[in-house]
Amino acid sequence: MMKYISTRGNAPELTFEEVLLTGLAEDGGLYVPKEVPQFSLEEIQSWRDLPYADLAHHVIYPFVEGCIDSDALKTILNDVYGGFGHKAVAPLQQIDHNEYVLELFHGPTLAFKDFALQTLGRLLDYVLEKRHEKVVIMGATSGDTGSAAIEGTKACKNVDIFILHPHNKVSEVQRRQMSTVLGDNIHNIAIEGNFDEAQDMVKASFGDQAFLKGERKLVAVNSINWARIMSQIVYYFYSALNLGAPLRPMAYSVPTGNFGDIFAGYMAKKMGLPINQLVIGTNSNDVLHRIMSRNQYEVMPLQHTITPSMDIAVSSNFERLLFDLYDRDGKALSSLMEKMNAKKDVVELDEANLDKARALFDSYACDENTTVETIQQVFSETGYLLDPHTAVGVKAARECRRDHRIPMITLGTAHPVKFEEAIQRAGLEMPSLPHHLSDLMEREERFTVLPANIKDVQSFIAENTFK
Ligand SMILES: *Cc1c(COP(=O)(O)O)cnc(C)c1O
Repeated sequence: MMKYISTRGNAPELTFEEVLLTGLAEDGGLYVPKEVPQFSLEEIQSWRDLPYADLAHHVIYPFVEGCIDSDALKTILNDVYGGFGHKAVAPLQQIDHNEYVLELFHGPTLAFKDFALQTLGRLLDYVLEKRHEKVVIMGATSGDTGSAAIEGTKACKNVDIFILHPHNKVSEVQRRQMSTVLGDNIHNIAIEGNFDEAQDMVKASFGDQAFLKGERKLVAVNSINWARIMSQIVYYFYSALNLGAPLRPMAYSVPTGNFGDIFAGYMAKKMGLPINQLVIGTNSNDVLHRIMSRNQYEVMPLQHTITPSMDIAVSSNFERLLFDLYDRDGKALSSLMEKMNAKKDVVELDEANLDKARALFDSYACDENTTVETIQQVFSETGYLLDPHTAVGVKAARECRRDHRIPMITLGTAHPVKFEEAIQRAGLEMPSLPHHLSDLMEREERFTVLPANIKDVQSFIAENTFK
């Protein structure tokens, strides 16, 4: 059975089931698999004709073995990916010679987070049923995570979900994707404040859960939850196999904020998929690019951009990569992370360790004008409309590409219809909402407005849990 260990080396080893129900480790670290499952080239090759859900079973099962029954996992994956709006689940779109966009926005909320959160909701309910437990999900969102988490858990019998968003500060499409999902276990809270205030209240609530009734505990659905990373590994295998791997290597470019999606690509490589390059694309919140290019880690004030889903000051999953770079030495990492979190000085990584990352990763920081120009350029070259996050990825791919004979695949993280501001700035016409959302603007909404005060939020949660 797979065991999971903390990156800071000072927390108990957990099973998959326990990791699923845990946020941060007790020592402040993130959980990672103790051993990475390995697949031979022959084995990977034998999967080349599999549909998405069947391939997902091969990739995911080693991580959950002993906790989730193999047939139960099959059913979950077939249900989840059978519900996507494209039969291929994750289709490839060619945008130039040897250059592709992997469309990860055919799930219910039109962004890649559905891949992980649809599965996570089903896995949670399976595990909670078995343990006769109920949990409360609490999260703050500036956009995509909230709606994907709500869609993923709306059918869960053992989960109550409370999602905080800043009142009047998310787009109407994004708010309606959350507030029109009606269910007794779904609670949208509009905070009269900004995203950071909402986020701080969530963090404080995880730290002291005494406000919850009975034996309830909080579960995290942000990308520190290992189960999210796990589900995202699959589409690297799927796209690579479709373009001739493992007989030839692939390169990927990933628009990233919290380093979650690209870390899944790094895992795919460790598991045996021939990946020759991973490109990190950031917006002007470029902490990752500053480390990779100049070996400078420094927390800067958050900037609000036209790629809001990548607006971060701290990139939490980078710690999972650092753990490997520092040879999985929890002590060394612990002291490094302490320095980084102190937010005082610029922190440097050990040069030799950073070189290990530079052998695989390249990075590029894309400003807003360049993002808009890239949307325009790809549209005029191909007639294909990129969302702004994907445009950051495409630009980064084009700037950093090492070998033009190797297919370059940019992860298409969202549908352009979600990001009107960027499409308007590019002077292009907005696409229409996909069929299953075409009446979104007419649907009944339900959300509660609360002041930015943690006591009010916590009593609302306590009163409305499992009524
Ligand atoms: C969440 C998100 C990202 C960033 O993903 P990370 O896992 O934080 O790297 C990029 N694009 C879109 C559209 C997103 O919703």
